[in-house]
Amino acid sequence: MKLTCPACGREATRVRAAFGDETAAYCQNCGWNAALAAAKLRSSASVAQGVAIFGLLLALLGWYRSGLRAGLLLACGFVLLPLAMAWLTRARASRVERIPGQPASATRTLPSAGHLVATDTAEKTLKYQQRPRGPRLTWRGRLYSAGVAAVSILLILFACLIYRDDSQALFSPKGLLILGGFGWYAWLCGAFFVSRWKEFKLLTDGAFARGVVFVQQDLTRSMPRITYTFKDSMGTPFQKRVIDFTHGLFEGMPVSVFYDEREPSRNMALESSLFRLD
Ligand SMILES: [Zn+2]
Repeated sequence: MKLTCPACGREATRVRAAFGDETAAYCQNCGWNAALAAAKLRSSASVAQGVAIFGLLLALLGWYRSGLRAGLLLACGFVLLPLAMAWLTRARASRVERIPGQPASATRTLPSAGHLVATDTAEKTLKYQQRPRGPRLTWRGRLYSAGVAAVSILLILFACLIYRDDSQALFSPKGLLILGGFGWYAWLCGAFFVSRWKEFKLLTDGAFARGVVFVQQDLTRSMPRITYTFKDSMGTPFQKRVIDFTHGLFEGMPVSVFYDEREPSRNMALESSLFRLD
């Protein structure tokens, strides 16, 4: 996915740590987010170095217990590899730090939507202010919904089969554990659709505000989370942490927020969601 720099409107660059899931974005043209991207990479490199220290202890233990060969093998995998990744990540961070035009410190300041170059036009804002709107699922949204629906059906089928074959076994401790597992996954599937339904309602009838991404975080083996901030019509600030299904939102990027006027803490951002408005 192409990233647009929220400060100058040119194409932004995505950068990934060699070790871990950390991703960041910055602009080569104006230096937007470069300090923060470099700081993220450096913290990821430090984690890789920590792994290398742990690996060194492991290699020494291997050498002591099983000889030099085992020690060397462990050292290759758990010391040299993480160190190489840390070095690569640090090299990427230094390259990002050399981009001119960025603030000297990497402090995280709250970006203000007012100073950003609006990438969406006034026409779009006007369109979002009209109600009711007609939200539709994106291709990603259809894919996720189909996947979660398929898992739900499989769960119900399995539960029925188990119940039919051996209904007594369900009331044993092991059976209850399995039932608990099924219940947990069924609840997750249900929660997915309830969340999408709430977002659909907000997109259809909610009030519109411009928001801005404040924090972007990558979680291990999970989808990135973003925290965005916006002000409601009364000027009260709100912030919310959500899953970024698109993997394409970073600090300072504008988002279109739709919220419940009576309870603005109920809100959603269009850009990170599985919906589109067009
Ligand atoms: Zn830029």
